[in-house]
Amino acid sequence: MEEKKSLKGAWTYLKRTYKFARKDKKYLIYFLLGCIVYCGISILAPLLAAKQILALTNETFEQLFWISLLILGIELLRNLDRFFNNYCSNKYFFAVQKNIQLEVAKETLKINTETLNKNSSGVFIERIGTDSETLADIFVMIIDYVTFAISNIGVFLSIFFLNKIIFLIFLVFLLILFFLQKYAMKKVQEKRKIQREKKEKASGFISELVRGAKDIKVLNAEESFLKKANEIATDLGQATYKMIRTRATFRLWNGNVRDILDFLITATGIYFIVKGNLEVATMIIIFSYRGHIISISDNIEGFLENLTRFTLAAKRIFDVIDNKEFPKEKFGTEQIQKVEGNIEFKNVSFEYEKDNSVLKNISFKIKPNETVSFVGKSGSGKSTIFNLIAGLYYPNEGDILLDGMKITSLDKKSIRGNLSIISQNPYIFNMSIKENFTIIKEDVTEKEIIEACKKACLHDFIITLKDGYNTLLGESGVTLSGGQRQRLAIARALVQKTEIILFDEATSALDNETQKEIQESIENMQGEYTILIIAHRLSTIINSDRLILIDNGKVLGEGTHEELLKSNKIYQKLYNLELKEKKENKE
Ligand code: ADP
Repeated sequence: MEEKKSLKGAWTYLKRTYKFARKDKKYLIYFLLGCIVYCGISILAPLLAAKQILALTNETFEQLFWISLLILGIELLRNLDRFFNNYCSNKYFFAVQKNIQLEVAKETLKINTETLNKNSSGVFIERIGTDSETLADIFVMIIDYVTFAISNIGVFLSIFFLNKIIFLIFLVFLLILFFLQKYAMKKVQEKRKIQREKKEKASGFISELVRGAKDIKVLNAEESFLKKANEIATDLGQATYKMIRTRATFRLWNGNVRDILDFLITATGIYFIVKGNLEVATMIIIFSYRGHIISISDNIEGFLENLTRFTLAAKRIFDVIDNKEFPKEKFGTEQIQKVEGNIEFKNVSFEYEKDNSVLKNISFKIKPNETVSFVGKSGSGKSTIFNLIAGLYYPNEGDILLDGMKITSLDKKSIRGNLSIISQNPYIFNMSIKENFTIIKEDVTEKEIIEACKKACLHDFIITLKDGYNTLLGESGVTLSGGQRQRLAIARALVQKTEIILFDEATSALDNETQKEIQESIENMQGEYTILIIAHRLSTIINSDRLILIDNGKVLGEGTHEELLKSNKIYQKLYNLELKEKKENKE
C-alpha cells in the first residue's frame, strides 16, 4: 500500500518535473537517440571481437585487417557518441535546473512574511541549490539506467535458451536482490530525509555566520559561534554517517547474496557438465556473462536509489511551490492604478502570536500628502503598523483602507506598487549605485537617478567618488555609512515614484550632519508625498504635520507637537525623556 503510494507520488512528481523540462526536451530526445546508438555499439562490439578472434585463428589476415578497421571505426563512433551524449545531457541538465531554480526562487519570494521569519534561510538555499540539481537530473538518469538495464536484460534472456535451470537460479536471486534493495532504499530514504534537514540547518547557520560576520566580531562572539558551528557540523556529520552506514550494511548483504549466487551457478554448472547435460563452452559463456546479469540488480539499485532521492527532493521543491507547507502571501483582485494617499486604520487589532496582542483596536486617518510621525516607546507597535500597511501581515480584526478600499481586497501591485518602505537599515544591493536603481526600475533614466539623489541629498557625495554613479557598493566596493544607506534608500523610493513613503528612522545615533541631511531629504519630499515616519528623534517630529502617539498598541493621542506637548501627559514624559537623553549625550 505504502509502496504503491510512494510510486504514485514519484509518478506525480515526475509529471510535474517534466513541465520544467518540456521547453528543453530536444536535448533529452538527442540524448535518448545517443543512448540507443550506444546500446547498438555495445552489442556490436563483442560480436566483432569474436569475429576478430575467429579471423586470427583461421589466419585470414586480410579479413582480420578489415574487421580491425571496422572495430576502430565503431570505437571512434562510440567516443563521439559519448561526447555527444555528454553534451546533450549537460545542456539539458543546466537548462532544466535553471528553470527549476527560477521557479523556486519566484515562489520563495511569494511566501508570507510570517513563514519566512519562522524558517531559516538554509531551508530555501538548500532547495534552490541542491534539490533542484537532483530534480533536473532525473530524466537523464532514467534513460541512462533503462539503456543499461535493457542491454543487460537482453543478455539475461539469452541464458534462458542456454540453460533453463541456471536461468531460474538467476531469476530467484535477482528477485531476492530486488526485495533487499527495496527494503534498503526505504531505510536509506528515512536517513536521507533527516540528513537533508540537518544540512538545511547547517546552510542556514553558515549564511547567518557570513552575513553577521561583522557583528559577530564586534560582539566578540567568534568562539561561541564556532562552538555552535561545530555542534551543527557534528550533527550533520552523524546524520550523514548514519545514512552511509545503512547503505554500507545493505551493500554488505548484497555482496554476500551475489557470492552465494556465484557459488550456486558454478556448482550447478559443474553438476550439469558432469551429467553431460551442458557443454563446457556454454558454461564459459554463461560464466563470462554473469556480470551483466548481476548488473541488472545494480541498475535496479541505482534506479531505485535515484528515484527515492528524486522523490525526496521533489517533495521539498514542490513544498515551496505549493501553498501548503510554506503559505504564500494572499492578495485580493481589485486594483488602484495610482493611489491618492488616504490611509485609514479602522478598529485594527493584531497579534503575531496567539493571545499576545500587539495592536489593540486602533483607528486613525492619514490624508494625501500629509507627513505623519508615529511616536512612542520602543516595542509599542509602530513598526507593526508599517508591516500592516505594506500588507506584510494582515490584521486579525478591523480594516485597513487605502483610498477607501480594504487592502485585503487589493491586488499586489496596488499595494506594493504604490508604497515604499525605507527601513532603519535598508538593504543596499552589492552592485553599482546606478544598478541599485535599475534593479528596481529597469527603465529609469540617468536624469531621474540624479534628480532623486539630489533630492535625497546624496548627489554631492556621489560625484566626489572616482567612478561616480558607477561606483560599486558593498563587499567589493565602497561601504556606505548608515546615513548614506538611508539616503540611497530614499532616492530609490523617489525613482519608484510611489505616492506613499514609509520611513523608519534609524535609531542609531547618527552624527548631527547626517541627521540634518536626512532631515533635509525628507523635507524635500514633504507636501508631494504621503509620508509616514517612525520617529526616534525629536528633529523629525517637529517638522511633521501631525504626530500619532502609540503606547502599548493603542493610539493615545494625535496632534501637532505643540498640541500634544500641551495636552498629553504621556507625550510630555516621552519628550522630556528624549530632551534629557539629548542633553546627556551632549555632555
Ligand atoms: P516598535 O516599532 O514600536 O518598536 P514593534 O511594532 O516592532 O514596536 O513591536 C511591537 C511588539 O511586537 C513587540 O513586543 C515585539 O516584540 C513584537 N514583534 C515585533 N515583530 C514581531 C514578529 N515578527 N513576531 C513576533 N513578535 C513581534
